[in-house]
Amino acid sequence: MKPALIVHGGAWDIPDEAVEVCNAGCRRALAAGWAVLAAGGAALDAVEAAIVVLEDDPVFDAGYGSHLNANGNVECDAIVMDGGTLRAGAAAVLHRVKNPIRAARAILEHCPHMMLVGEGAEHFAKENGVALCKAEELVSEAEWDAWMKCKKDKHAAAHHRGHEQGTVGAVALDRDGRLFAATSTGGTCCKLPGRVGDSPLIGCGCYADAEAGGVSCTGYGEAIMKVVMAKSATDFLRARDSAGVTTGPDLPNVSVAMSAAKRAVDLLAARTNGTGGLILLDRDGEAGFAFNTPRMAYGYVQADGTLFTSVS
Ligand code: ASP
Repeated sequence: MKPALIVHGGAWDIPDEAVEVCNAGCRRALAAGWAVLAAGGAALDAVEAAIVVLEDDPVFDAGYGSHLNANGNVECDAIVMDGGTLRAGAAAVLHRVKNPIRAARAILEHCPHMMLVGEGAEHFAKENGVALCKAEELVSEAEWDAWMKCKKDKHAAAHHRGHEQGTVGAVALDRDGRLFAATSTGGTCCKLPGRVGDSPLIGCGCYADAEAGGVSCTGYGEAIMKVVMAKSATDFLRARDSAGVTTGPDLPNVSVAMSAAKRAVDLLAARTNGTGGLILLDRDGEAGFAFNTPRMAYGYVQADGTLFTSVS
């Protein structure tokens, strides 16, 4: 198989002044994941490498620099899913895991269950060699300042202006045909402690099935969950099987991958009025993406091996 990789750094109202840093972050993540795939490495290692770069970058709402919850704590969720086995590893309500995607991977590979939350997830991660940190080490100065403004006044988007950030995600296909999708987030700003959005939920914020494709979503979790957006996008990818054609039924002039992505976001808008976006690879590695927010940060490796990133 020809390897393929796509990443995102969230769909939201990315202001002009944040475009360059979001773009640069996506490019670094893409380069890290592609280094793995180009060397013949595994899709699971590639999505982990890409997501770790995004989690470590405070520009994005994942790992260090995540939004703070109503109590002023970072509370992270992550998932990684294997399109070959349909098995996922997911972790939610993490306070002390520097790279939540690593906790999700440990659950995927070593846990009899597919999802752990809170202390149980952190304990399992530690037992399986994932580094824990102090909760405060995940708090960035910008997020702390925003939270203080919300605390003194009340939660308002204006207090987060310029760093509303986005969830991150990656989908990779390796040369052996293994397909993995992953999503990592700090969730929504000033969320109630214990709130879990779409991101770590199989089928909602992430889905992968090697027979159809892999998807990672971003946006308003309470809406994305309603339409099980990642699984819906995967089902739209299957439309070609029933239709027996290689173009999506509604969008004849674009690839199946682009058509499926758009149809899933259209479904989100039509049925929930919600906003968000997604990235995907179809089973052959064709990239698709769509969003109905003002902008989304994303990037993928083009057919000739060059990295393409955009915040548009
Ligand atoms: N979907 C995430 C959540 O609701 C947030 C985001 O993607 O920005 O937790």
